[in-house]
Amino acid sequence: MSSNSPPPALATPADLHGRRALVTGAASGIGAAIVGRYLACGAQVYAVDRDEAGLKTLVGRFPTDGPRLVPLVADLADLTGLADLPTDVDVLVNNAGLQHIAPVEDFPLDRFELILAVMLHAPFRLVRQCLPHMYARGWGRVVNVSSAHGRRASAFKSAYVTAKHGLEGLSKVVALEGAAHGVTSNCISPGYVRTPLVEKQIAEQAATRGIAEDEVIDKVMLEAMAVKRLVEPQEVAELAAFLCGPSSLSITGASIAMDGGWTAR
Ligand code: NAD
Repeated sequence: MSSNSPPPALATPADLHGRRALVTGAASGIGAAIVGRYLACGAQVYAVDRDEAGLKTLVGRFPTDGPRLVPLVADLADLTGLADLPTDVDVLVNNAGLQHIAPVEDFPLDRFELILAVMLHAPFRLVRQCLPHMYARGWGRVVNVSSAHGRRASAFKSAYVTAKHGLEGLSKVVALEGAAHGVTSNCISPGYVRTPLVEKQIAEQAATRGIAEDEVIDKVMLEAMAVKRLVEPQEVAELAAFLCGPSSLSITGASIAMDGGWTAR
């Protein structure tokens, strides 16, 4: 089991046997990849998503890990309902997210509030209710899946950019408060990752900007990334595992870019 003692001379992978992780947005994309990676590290994983069918598919992907994979159907927009989720959590991954593309003056008020609820208010409530268990055990890891949009803005994404910038701030505060209790808190900040969320955006951006879908990938998405490829979900999951391993003891309050150089500009 990982501890807060110094790591061995050579880096070793995260050992999460005896640890419980809670991953939100677990049914798809990055969340599903993190679930798989944490199961491989030995963790028990609470997989939280509103997509019941997606969770069933996820469980089917990891048949031998069945007893350690606990699917939980929950809508994170129901903020009071979050109190029913487990709090005996050693690793909290705030990952669930959604996007809406529109100019500020046309941005639907209910979509703005929904995005802030799922991507900022829910992470605050979850970390608030999981920290006491982490503090009691003297070890915890908070992994916030942020974005290059936690560090940079893009037109037409006011709710998403606002939520991700807020998440980056929350993560830093948790890092400062948690340090004395063996708890680290970090953001992973990817550029465009090949997931259903991005596939949906391609069509939406094409309509909003009045351009073809392949132009959206080349001229809008990859334009900002010096490395001209979409990030794969497994790469994000690998970093999420590293942040729980013995070589990351001093990494906290960080926003680790995985954005092909986007925020190097
Ligand atoms: P995805 O659409 O593949 O998966 C998101 C998951 O969140 C889905 O399973 C969905 O059901 C769940 N979800 C959404 N709203 C929910 C709610 N109200 N309650 C419970 N579950 C809910 O998306 P993804 O690309 O894997 O995104 C995961 C995270 O990564 C998001 O926070 C996103 O902002 C971030 N991110 C994605 C990219 C990218 O390019 N894909 C880049 C940077 C950051």
